[in-house]
Order: sequence, then C-alpha cells, then structure tokens
Amino acid sequence: MSVIVRFAPSPTGYIHIGNLRPALFNWLFAKARPGEAPGQFVLRFDDTDVERSRQEYADAIAEDLRWIGIVPDMIARQSDRLEIYDRAADALRAKGLLYPCYETADELERRRKRRMALGQPPVYGRDALRLTAEERAKLEAEGRRPHWRFLLPNFESDPFAPVRKEVRWNDLVRGQQTVDLSSLSDPVLVREDGTYLYTLPSVVDDGEMGITHVIRGDDHVTNSGVQIAIFEALGYSLPVFGHHNLLTTVDGEGLSKRSGALSIRMLRAEGLEPMSVASLAVLVGSAGSIEAMQDLTQLGARVDLSAISSSNAKFDPAELVRLNAELVHKFSYEDVAARLAEMQVPTDSAQAFWLAVRGNCEKLDDAASWQAIVYHAPSASFVFSDEDLSFVREAFALLPPEPWNNESWGLWTQAVKAATWRKGRGLFLPLRLALTGLDHGPEMAALLPLIGRKAALQRIP
Ligand code: GLU
Repeated sequence: MSVIVRFAPSPTGYIHIGNLRPALFNWLFAKARPGEAPGQFVLRFDDTDVERSRQEYADAIAEDLRWIGIVPDMIARQSDRLEIYDRAADALRAKGLLYPCYETADELERRRKRRMALGQPPVYGRDALRLTAEERAKLEAEGRRPHWRFLLPNFESDPFAPVRKEVRWNDLVRGQQTVDLSSLSDPVLVREDGTYLYTLPSVVDDGEMGITHVIRGDDHVTNSGVQIAIFEALGYSLPVFGHHNLLTTVDGEGLSKRSGALSIRMLRAEGLEPMSVASLAVLVGSAGSIEAMQDLTQLGARVDLSAISSSNAKFDPAELVRLNAELVHKFSYEDVAARLAEMQVPTDSAQAFWLAVRGNCEKLDDAASWQAIVYHAPSASFVFSDEDLSFVREAFALLPPEPWNNESWGLWTQAVKAATWRKGRGLFLPLRLALTGLDHGPEMAALLPLIGRKAALQRIP
C-alpha cells in the first residue's frame, strides 16, 4: 500500500515548533522510513473558519515548511472544496444522521446544568430530534436558523437511550485506544450560518484524498472516535491513526499559534539551522537522546512513533541553541561555502577560516564576527598595562617572516618566550588580545596565518 499522509494546519497564524511536529512526523513517515518506498505528502489548509484564516498565513506556512525541507506533493484548501462537503452533508441528512437543532448557546448551557444537577452526564440530550415538522417550521418562521448535529451511533434502536459504544483503533503512537461514544454529545458539523466546523471536512478530505495515515496531536484523540463514526457513516475506508504528545513550554503551558511565540520564522530570523529546529521538534518527548541530525533522512531513521511518550514534551530554548551549536561545529566547508562567501570571507582562505572558527560558533552567523576580526580589525582595541604594552611591542618585533602556516604561531611564541622569559597565560593572552581584541576564541595557531603578517603588524598597540 502506498502511503499518503497530510498535514492540515489552519492558516490562522505562523506555525511554531509545536505545529512543526505533526508536519515532520507525517513527512518523515511518508518519505524517510528506512527501507520503505516514499509516499505522498499533502499540505491541506483547514481554512473553513473564514474569519480567522488568512492567505498570507497559508503562504507563510508553506514557506516555513520549505525552509525545513518539506515540499508537499499536493496543496489543497478546504475553502475550495465546499461543494464536496455539501454533498457529504446531504448524504448524511438523507440517512437521518445529520439533524437540525435550534437551541441557542444559553439554552444549551441551562440544559447542561440541569442534567448535571440530575446526576446525568452533561451531554446533549438530542432534544431537537423530538421536534415535529410543524415545530421546526414554527422556529424557522421566528427567524431561527438550524445548526446541524451528527447522530452518533451509540444506541440500539432508541436514540434517547444511549448505550456504551466503543470505538477502538490501534494507534501508531499510543497503542490500543478506546473512545466510548455514549459519553459524547452529538457533534455539531454545520454552523447556523451554513459554514462547516473542522470535523466533517477533515473526514471528507481524508476519505476523498485516500489518506492512509492520520498522524496528529493527542488533543485529537476524542475527535478520532467521533470521526471514525463519520468515516463509517460515509462509507470511506479508515486511515490508520497516530496521536503524538504535544509540546509545551518549560512551565508546562501550551504554545499558541496566535502569539507568534517560537514561530518557525522567528527561529529562522534568529539564525538557527533548519536541522536543529527539526531535530528538536521530532526527538523531544521521545525515548532516546536528543541530538542534532545532519538531514531529514538521518532524522527519519531515528523516529519510532511507538516510542513517543504519552505525557507532554517540554520545549527548552536552551536545548535548541545547544543542538544548533552541535550542528554548526560539524558543518564541513562544503556545507557552508556559499554562506561564507556571502559574509565576504575570501575564497582562497575560506576553508582554513571555517575549520579554525567553527568550534567557536553557536550559530553560523557567528562566523561573520570572526570574519571581521580575522580580515579587518580586532573587535576592540584593548588597553594594556605599561608592562604588557612593552611586552607586546617587543613580541611583535619578533614576528617571523612569511610564508606562514599552522606552525608559525608556535615558532613565534617560542622566540618570544626565549627573549622575554614570559610563559603560559602571561605570554599568550596579551598576544591574543592585541591580535583579536578578545580573551577567547579559536586557536591562535589557526588564526595567525589567516590574519597574515602585514595585518598583524598593523595591530601593534
Ligand atoms: N486543523 C487541525 C489542527 O490544526 C488539523 C487536525 C488534524 O490533523 O486533523 O488541529
């Protein structure tokens, strides 16, 4: 069976690292399962909420996914598919499975309280099913418009006498799952204004598009129980479901798309690498260590959906910085050559430059400040004590002639040591400070030949 998955965001904001998780779990499931032929990945915008959905967010989501390396085989918009949902709704109406209800929110709330007071479960009591045609006509004549509920199959023959009805599935992540439909209200599928809630269009699309696996957050577990009943009512074959844990902040709070916090574009603007973001998004909250993977194929080989924890995963921004540094430290020159060229690193020494500085870069952009130090000037001119000043000047007079290589620093500092009797930190630190303006950084043996004799002499304090 060829796999078809979908990622179905609502374009109501920029996606954040928590939203990226289902995108990546689906992408890696379809495209990067070791030994499996690649499947199809559909990006579907759940944009039936016209008030909150925006084209600019849809475009931004596609762009953010592309930055991560996710390039959908197909993009669909629910707002283009309303006729298909209308047909499905009509089919349910024809079977008596979608019925009109006229209660206002206040009325529903009052009834809910009454049921609770009577010790009954606070679910919708299907009162609208008792309305006669005349009563309905009367309500409509008063100007009431119906919303429409799906009749859950949780009764034998009398819808007012629900019985325990378990929907079961074997979840890719959570194993055997059970949802008892008698504990749920008949879900509203169509609003008063005729617009669709998420529940029906999602099932219809998954059915029509032949989605084989629905992998999404575990906030949808109960939904899946309801949606399985709708799949069956519409005669679609069932996809396999997988519900992964959700990501929260370190304090356990949920991430919100609307707040823009931790949005993928913010992480990108901060100079983080797509693979550090992707690695954390996928590996957090699962068994095994969290390491930066080099590419999505390698990351795919690390995914084991059944090993994902059932409790929430916590996102720690410091972890992201650590992973990013891990990744940057391992980048080869080829990985970064184009970006170094953008930073005006001279091509003839760019490889040696990268190998010298990469261990000191948490983000690739940090290389730009080393570029400035190596090829232009120290980051700041250090104010030396009189004693150090004369030491540094004496030392610079001993700079060996060019050509220089990685041994030149050693030869120079040995000569300086012999002439001045300084050693250790007292010897090396003032020279580093004079040449770079900083008391820390890459090996001076690697930096000195990059700086070159002429520029070094210009750095004499
Ligand atoms: N639009 C839904 C969401 O963002 C999609 C859930 C699903 O994958 O079915 O939660």
